Amino acid sequence: MKTINDFNFADKKALVRVDFNVPLNESFEVTDDTRIQAAKPTIIKILEDGGSAVLMSHLGRPKGAQAEFSLKHIVEKVSEVIGVQVKFAADCVGAAAEEAVASLNPGEVLLLENLRYHAEETAGDKAFAEQLSKLGDIYVNDAFGTAHRAHASTTIVAQFFADNKCFGGLLAKEIESIEKVLSSGEKPVTAVLGGSKVSSKITIIENILDKVDNLIIGGGMTYTFVKAQGGKIGDSICEDDKQQLALEILKKAEEKGVKIHIPVDVIGADAFDNNANTKPMDVTTIPDGWQGLDAGPETLKKFHNVILDSKTILWNGPLGVFEMESFAKGTIALGHSIAEATEKGAFSLVGGGDSVAAVKQFGFGDKVSYVSTGGGAMLESLEGKTLPGIEAIQN
Ligand code: AMP
Repeated sequence: MKTINDFNFADKKALVRVDFNVPLNESFEVTDDTRIQAAKPTIIKILEDGGSAVLMSHLGRPKGAQAEFSLKHIVEKVSEVIGVQVKFAADCVGAAAEEAVASLNPGEVLLLENLRYHAEETAGDKAFAEQLSKLGDIYVNDAFGTAHRAHASTTIVAQFFADNKCFGGLLAKEIESIEKVLSSGEKPVTAVLGGSKVSSKITIIENILDKVDNLIIGGGMTYTFVKAQGGKIGDSICEDDKQQLALEILKKAEEKGVKIHIPVDVIGADAFDNNANTKPMDVTTIPDGWQGLDAGPETLKKFHNVILDSKTILWNGPLGVFEMESFAKGTIALGHSIAEATEKGAFSLVGGGDSVAAVKQFGFGDKVSYVSTGGGAMLESLEGKTLPGIEAIQN
């Protein structure tokens, strides 16, 4: 794996694909600069070597050159984070971009206008990618959030750089973290998969059964498994057409020696409502009119013990409807367990959609080993797919 640390950028212009798809408020101010902060170490390394950085990103989903999606809105924020006054090119290809790059000196940073102002970007157009490739001597991909897309700037452009291409620090860290969980991590390896549906996690479950020692299943998926085994789940969420699949997963896990842990008790509620009446109940005897919306106390104790025995932990998906305070306790408790295991030396990766939101909301972000920056890209990695943006650098 070639990273920025394998290059000296002195007097070189680095063309860096970053993910600056940041949220803006009505006055076009950046409301969360996490993604800019995440790219900072890569940019600083290039500048400290004596090189210059040409940054390219998309912002939102513009239809043509819509002013509200202009990256000029974020120039000041990027300048503030990087500590260098960032220059701006009004287009990401053509004369405007090429002239701005030509006059760029070592130590300077140029931000190109939104890549998605050109439909060729998402189409993965080769001629457009070739135009982009003229804007740097070395191509650096540091955008994990778009690594699962074969877009011009994330994948196709790499073919114009022969050996002069590498992963940025952020993308390298994402790849290493996934690697640790899926192949090189210390055993026992435990995956916690929560969330609402079996159907959206099934490919991950199938891929992961070959890699883990323990699989904790939680959230809404629980009830499809419980019903398939003959339990009574009341009005809990369930995919009836996935019951057979659930039984097959249990069988496969047994054959492979993977221990599956499913909630034994849940917090039942008499409505899908934060103010519903609630009580802990056995997961196999939920009365009609009630539904399980969070993991129960016995379950949390069991999960805690499994997590504390683990040396490598993956967490994807909440244990309950954490958006409602009444059903967030399970997800918070799991966060505490993973934080404690991490403190005792385990490696923990949180990735994919809602668990990242939960981890940030409940303040576990700096208590786990790594929080992934890419939702879809992380899910596809866990499914065992090779991401085009990663493959393009490795080839
Ligand atoms: P996912 O995007 O598949 O990770 O699912 C996340 C969603 O699952 C969150 O919005 C949770 O509210 C929801 N969820 C978790 N547990 C349950 C449950 N027991 N019943 C209904 N929804 C749930």
